[in-house]
Amino acid sequence: MTDTVDLTLEEADALARDVLEAWGLAPDHAAAVAATMVAGERDGCTSHGLYRLLVAAASVEKGVVTPDAVPEVSEPAPALVRVDGKGGFAQLPFARGVPLLVEKARAKGVAAMALNNVVHFAALWPEVEALAREGLVALAFTANHAWVAPAGGTRPVFGTNPIAFAWPRPGREPFVFDFATTVIARGDIELHRRAGKPVPADWGYDAEGRETTDAKAVLDGAMRTFGGHKGSALAAMVELIAGPLIGDMTSAQSLASDAGRGGSPLGGELLIAIDPAGFLGDRVEEYLAHGETMFAAIEGQGARLPGARRIAARRETMERGLRIPAAFHAELLDLLQK
Ligand code: NDP
Repeated sequence: MTDTVDLTLEEADALARDVLEAWGLAPDHAAAVAATMVAGERDGCTSHGLYRLLVAAASVEKGVVTPDAVPEVSEPAPALVRVDGKGGFAQLPFARGVPLLVEKARAKGVAAMALNNVVHFAALWPEVEALAREGLVALAFTANHAWVAPAGGTRPVFGTNPIAFAWPRPGREPFVFDFATTVIARGDIELHRRAGKPVPADWGYDAEGRETTDAKAVLDGAMRTFGGHKGSALAAMVELIAGPLIGDMTSAQSLASDAGRGGSPLGGELLIAIDPAGFLGDRVEEYLAHGETMFAAIEGQGARLPGARRIAARRETMERGLRIPAAFHAELLDLLQK
């Protein structure tokens, strides 16, 4: 028996949808969630790839997510879109709201969309990338569970609070970055715990607020933001604009609402879409070219652009398909037996 299993993207998508439906997700939710997981696997972001099927199944089992929620789209103001996810996963509400967000951004120059009451476990780059493909500049923010201490403190206040940005590039893949505001992903600390390996002392604190190299102690204590007070301020910004600003929960409230079930975070997400034509009119091409000059100056000195690794992985996968560990594939097939 080989150690790996090869799947086409279509086979992976069908498997993911079957698993999600077997766990009770409505077909439209299953399709939207499966698409982002397959995209993650395709782009070499395995921590947000098919592995998340296990996380999504657990969230359904723990009753953290409403598996058949019907998202409700509304327009609170001329340049605003709101999608109430009604406790379902975020992917379908995003898909339902995007056409209106794009339409408003083009009509007004800038528009924002709030996803409320959604369970968000996923990477943000697929969302901003989709908007950049429409020729828009995009930003996305979401709060999380309160696992992260502010700079100068040692007790959790923030979530891991990711920020994503996308910029359209004529004839090329959009420029995209997407990262948490923590020094390291929580999943990496979890991997250290499982492997029984110590973590660097600057990753977090134990529950008593002491520096520690014990991964479990950090998971039970508090993670640190990246960049000291700068990352801490960005994490605070995400809390505010993806929580109170849009009438949704902070990370502390999300963790409290989980009530120890260990489910994915429930709360809000804010997306902002800007149409370059709003400022530039018919000079969009000219000014996007200035952006290209900057990208060339970065790459010209051997530095890489954020997103470059992902796009390279995507190209490779599109050619040869997906390869996943056989044991993991067996785990996914087991999930079908629900
Ligand atoms: P990373 O620290 O791995 O940073 C990822 C970003 O930085 C990517 O855009 C990546 O590009 C870029 N990058 C990495 N290395 C370099 C380099 N050497 N030069 C230039 N760019 C580089 O991300 P995180 O671990 O913080 O986050 C991972 C994912 O987790 C994100 O997608 C985030 O949205 C998600 N997340 C989701 C949460 C939620 O609540 N939904 C909570 C927290 C995180 P590339 O991809 O090409 O490597």
